[in-house]
Amino acid sequence: MGKVWFIGAGPGAPDLLTVRGARLIGEADVVIWARSLVSEGVLEHARGCAEIIESTTIPLEGLREVYERAVADDLAVARVHSGDPSIYGAVMEQLELCDEIGLEWEIVPGVSSLGAAAAAIGRELTVPEVSQSVILTRRASRTPMPEGEDLKTFAAHGTTMAIFLSAARPRALQEELLEGGYAPDTPCAVVYKASWPDEVVIECPLGDLADRIREAGFTRQALILVGPGLAAGGTRSHLYSPRFSHMFRRAEPEEGEDAP
Ligand code: SAH
Repeated sequence: MGKVWFIGAGPGAPDLLTVRGARLIGEADVVIWARSLVSEGVLEHARGCAEIIESTTIPLEGLREVYERAVADDLAVARVHSGDPSIYGAVMEQLELCDEIGLEWEIVPGVSSLGAAAAAIGRELTVPEVSQSVILTRRASRTPMPEGEDLKTFAAHGTTMAIFLSAARPRALQEELLEGGYAPDTPCAVVYKASWPDEVVIECPLGDLADRIREAGFTRQALILVGPGLAAGGTRSHLYSPRFSHMFRRAEPEEGEDAP
């Protein structure tokens, strides 16, 4: 029957893969990966005899042949995605294709570049009483943004924002964030190739963001973080406050709350 696993391969470092993802890549007959998105190191997990397909230049229709072969020859296919497949993973059209040709599939979550970028700057993205929400978004490009999802609208919330796929036009990006209401001194971080050997981190106020991205020459593989929470400190999480009892100490947390 065959099966394809859509595996989140993490942000780049081959050891930032889940144990399950690494095991499934190691068991696969065919490994499909895109050089432009996934570090080659991830292939270290593959068997020597596995068929490796580099998919950067292969349109979805080209993969149909591989998936059909998986059904016919009962192959295990590992389709490796960057970060976590749930975020800009272009996975839905592949699932539809698999359903159409009767190939079983399963998604294996991965470490998103969001977590890797936060780790690179050594910060938590939610800071009590400063920012308790993270907006994951992008600028419009060839992919238009749905009504009400433009950066300016999101910026008005003033919370932490993680902006994917948007380093190529930094001036427009900066302008939209300022127009939305972030102050020019709002802290920003740009993490280029988080967890790769050539990772670069830029930290600057929003007013300098476009210049700094331009100077560095980043157009892709960069995640941009913005928000007052990136510099805030000192506000202690209630969960670790001696005055706040939680489920592992004395009282139950409020209904519906999980301890982290
Ligand atoms: N599914 C991926 C995102 C794919 S979209 C994830 O969960 O991370 C591609 C965008 O993700 C890039 O434009 C960039 O904004 C971000 N990205 C992916 N890998 C990255 C990395 N190692 N470092 C910084 N940003 C990365």
